[in-house]
Amino acid sequence: GCPGRLLELKGNIRVLCRLRPGTPSSLVSLEPGPGGSVTTCYRGHRRRFRLDWVFPPHASQEEVFRELESAVLSCLGGYSVCIFTYGQTGTGKTYSMEGPPEDPGIAPRALQSLFREMGTGGQHHVTLSMVEIYNEAVRDLLAPGPPQRLTVRQGPAGQGGVQVAGLTHWDVPSLESLHQMLSLGRSNRAAAATAMNQHSSRSHALVTLTLRAAPPLRGPATAGTLHLVDLAGSERAWKAGAAGASREDRDSAQRLREARTINRSLLALGGVMAALRARRPHVPFRDSQLTRLLQPALGPGATAVLLLQISTRPEDLGETVCSLKFAERVG
Ligand code: ADP
Ligand code: MG
Repeated sequence: GCPGRLLELKGNIRVLCRLRPGTPSSLVSLEPGPGGSVTTCYRGHRRRFRLDWVFPPHASQEEVFRELESAVLSCLGGYSVCIFTYGQTGTGKTYSMEGPPEDPGIAPRALQSLFREMGTGGQHHVTLSMVEIYNEAVRDLLAPGPPQRLTVRQGPAGQGGVQVAGLTHWDVPSLESLHQMLSLGRSNRAAAATAMNQHSSRSHALVTLTLRAAPPLRGPATAGTLHLVDLAGSERAWKAGAAGASREDRDSAQRLREARTINRSLLALGGVMAALRARRPHVPFRDSQLTRLLQPALGPGATAVLLLQISTRPEDLGETVCSLKFAERVG
């Protein structure tokens, strides 16, 4: 770890930006690095968006993870860390989060790094849960049998948490078993999506790792948590209906409903992050299942990292500007 960086990260929301590879465009230009910026030229307006970190074009998976590793490892010290990939469908959210087997993304690298740091001494008890949120329904991806719909309830008064009745938590004895569980969760997600005629880009996927120190740490929290969240595509409703290719995808009433619930939950996430950042007394966690579920993870002292994925294609410019505006609001 790198203690200086950890202190800097504690309690912060950081926004990082990565380009989907493609032909660069004069309409979207970058100033990479820390405190970098993205400048867009949209409908004759030039706008410069500042971010905490802008990756250069063609940044590698390793380069991306390097910026996240100290945040990831802080959950070993009992902190709560949430990493989100945000952006329009097709901009590389899943690529960054999961990556192909030959070029793993944030999730596999984070887990490997955590297990490496923990060593084999058994000083931590690790558990895993995995859910997806589709049309505001929360589904358990690790329950035996078909994915179960779960109910999210407010926890006991004064404790501020939420309770997800019946959510499966698996003990994770090793990195190998963790990878097996994750691939099971992923295939459950894909199977459920196929059965219900939907596409994974229209649901949020949350992987949660809880690390309890044994013996317990002194300090505010004894359990650190890492949430890895591959968000649903952020494109606006009017476009989502036109994006599909198959006959089912032209079932526009359902598409529109999906797009609206996605937009509402991303708006809720933005609202929560903006409230936390401004240290407003009221944080609107209850506005969506996503923010309700993440309420314990986004409290004071938590670290949230938003990896904004953007496209450089001229036809995506409107969505790119929307994504940058979202980042501006929360960052
Ligand atoms: P999203 O999850 O945002 O819908 P994907 O991660 O599925 O987008 O990416 C869309 C396509 O672009 C995939 O074929 C993916 O492999 C490719 N892709 C995205 N980002 C990169 C990258 N940095 N390098 C190489 N290929 C990428
Ligand atoms: Mg995806």
